[in-house]
Amino acid sequence: MNETTYDITIIGGGPAGIFSAYFARLRKLNVALIESLPKLGGQPETLYAQKNIYDVAGLPKISGTQLSDQLIQQLHFLDCDEYLNTSVTKLTRKDDLWEITTTKDTIYTKAVIIAIGNGAFEPRKLTFEYDKAIEKNNLRYFVNDIEEFRNKDVVVAGGGDSAVDWAISLNNVSNKTSLIHRRNKYRAMESSVDELNDSSVEQLNPYIIKNVTFNSTNPDKIDITLKMIKSDEVKIITADKLLVNYGFISDSKILRDWNIDLTGPFIKVDQEMETNLPNVFAIGDIVSYPGKLQLITTSFAEGPIAVTKALRNLYPDKDYFQHSTSLFEK
Ligand SMILES: Cc1cc2nc3c(=O)[nH]c(=O)nc-3n(C[C@H](O)[C@H](O)[C@H](O)COP(=O)(O)OP(=O)(O)OC[C@H]3O[C@@H](n4cnc5c(N)ncnc54)[C@H](O)[C@@H]3O)c2cc1C
Repeated sequence: MNETTYDITIIGGGPAGIFSAYFARLRKLNVALIESLPKLGGQPETLYAQKNIYDVAGLPKISGTQLSDQLIQQLHFLDCDEYLNTSVTKLTRKDDLWEITTTKDTIYTKAVIIAIGNGAFEPRKLTFEYDKAIEKNNLRYFVNDIEEFRNKDVVVAGGGDSAVDWAISLNNVSNKTSLIHRRNKYRAMESSVDELNDSSVEQLNPYIIKNVTFNSTNPDKIDITLKMIKSDEVKIITADKLLVNYGFISDSKILRDWNIDLTGPFIKVDQEMETNLPNVFAIGDIVSYPGKLQLITTSFAEGPIAVTKALRNLYPDKDYFQHSTSLFEK
């Protein structure tokens, strides 16, 4: 058991969690940040490290991993207790405190901010049976290293933001990139779709993948069998790499045992990011409220709101109102 009782413990070290930890430290609170992965950063670090982000204020263009690194650097100006490789499994009320059970320590805290995004990252996989050896070199559900796609024939499957963004990015390094989607319309930002249409990415719509096998003459390659929707047309394309971007299965199941009010897989919060549980807040992709946008920039605003309300709840007499962070240079 850890001897410290924290003011605020933040569960989840994505953009929402890292920035709220920093903001809570600016407010001189005693803070713990718990992250199940070995590195802080959340989705930008884990799912799209090398993809560029264009909608964070003041940063015209920044890759996922650069944003994570800068958030971590900012947090380290003030430091907080980081528990990496540590997953939270249980949240229990103990008198006026919260007991947080993790895969390693038990942590006690006055307030909690849940920032777990979509929970543990589980990609939606191909639903048909295929030789799992294909996952070794040819089939990917994440891009960990863009270099492995260099000069390759690449097929991206999916029609959302992630698939469209990856098709555009990989097209810059691949020999050829094709994008397969089961509809004629993408569920992606208009600017990304415009960029896709202006690019040399081959668009194969409306097709679904029916099978993936090793190519019989060149086992370094794979044959992808496509079937046209509402048609008997079948075609086989040969590629080096298949990147499947069918989205992610959100795993907020653990929340069901925490007596926290949910709406679908999301946590219900009020306008101050407070949940139905005393001094338990939630921010980032895991929350739902009218008008919620699942964007980094939105989560950057939600963290300070949650921290400020937690501060007011815990220390009503403390002078919490600060306009200018330069005051902290003193
Ligand atoms: C391909 C793609 C492209 C995107 N592009 C953009 C973009 O250009 N601009 C933009 O604004 N947004 C973009 N987004 C969305 C953006 O990444 C999310 O809105 C943002 O990451 C949400 O931050 P978060 O901190 O709430 O959650 P996350 O980033 O999901 O972080 C949550 C963290 O919590 C950890 N965690 C989960 N469960 C536990 C547990 N039980 N215990 C401990 N830790 C736990 C996870 O490991 C994770 O690190 C994109 C998303 C994707 C998938």
